[in-house]
Amino acid sequence: MNNLEHINCPICEGDETELLFNKHSLSVVACKQCRLRYVNPRVSRHTLEENYVETYYPPEKVKRIHTDTMEWLQMAERLAELEAQLPSKGHLLDVGCGIGTFLHLAQENGWQPYGIDPSRSGIAFAQEIHQLDVRCGDIFDANFPTAHFDAITAYHVLEHISELNPFLAEIRRILKPPGDEKKAGKLVIEVPNGGSLQSRLQKADWPYVHPQDHLYYFSARSLPKLLRKHGFHHITLGRPRRVSPKIGLRFALRQAATAMLVRFHLGTVIRVYAS
Ligand SMILES: [Zn+2]
Repeated sequence: MNNLEHINCPICEGDETELLFNKHSLSVVACKQCRLRYVNPRVSRHTLEENYVETYYPPEKVKRIHTDTMEWLQMAERLAELEAQLPSKGHLLDVGCGIGTFLHLAQENGWQPYGIDPSRSGIAFAQEIHQLDVRCGDIFDANFPTAHFDAITAYHVLEHISELNPFLAEIRRILKPPGDEKKAGKLVIEVPNGGSLQSRLQKADWPYVHPQDHLYYFSARSLPKLLRKHGFHHITLGRPRRVSPKIGLRFALRQAATAMLVRFHLGTVIRVYAS
């Protein structure tokens, strides 16, 4: 494969790894020092961005997402948990806001929403349909003011970010600083759980293993470690809940099973709140 780059572990900077498995001609390794699982070597940043930007929200997909009940239920679930963590509403930035469903709900609930996403079609939809203040690009292009946001959310974004440490340093800069606990800004990160039961059982066959653009497979241990490196010291794990348009006994049982897995950090995703 062309355009591959070798990286040191983005958490501890170590370069001793063990091979976990190969998929699509790429290797997923574990850092011997801190156990972060990541793709190494990986597709270089330039190639990655070219591939990502206009394939994630092709125009015909945008309408389908917008009318999908699951999309709305999922975004409402995310917002409800954020509001339980942070009762006062203020400036909210959603990194990777896609077509803007989450920000639209947040705005209805009294937040002042901002969004950023590399997808032109996603951003155009969020502007036209939801009239949101959103920009196309990455977080560095936006150049937001220092200590500005009360909350920054990044759902299923971090595993795509090649410049992981500069990205988190920029988030830390634009989020209100810790100190006065009532005013401290809150960062919410959700990623596929590389330590989930499903990933342990399925290894390379786990559907989230997509080494071209899912560059890291964080766990409930490695993600807090990375955040502490960037000055986040108050870190708690969220309890993402399963949602469904159909409720009944079958759903209740599946929801209970999900809740049990999440409790032991074995759920499909991990969500952390950090300040
Ligand atoms: Zn490491």
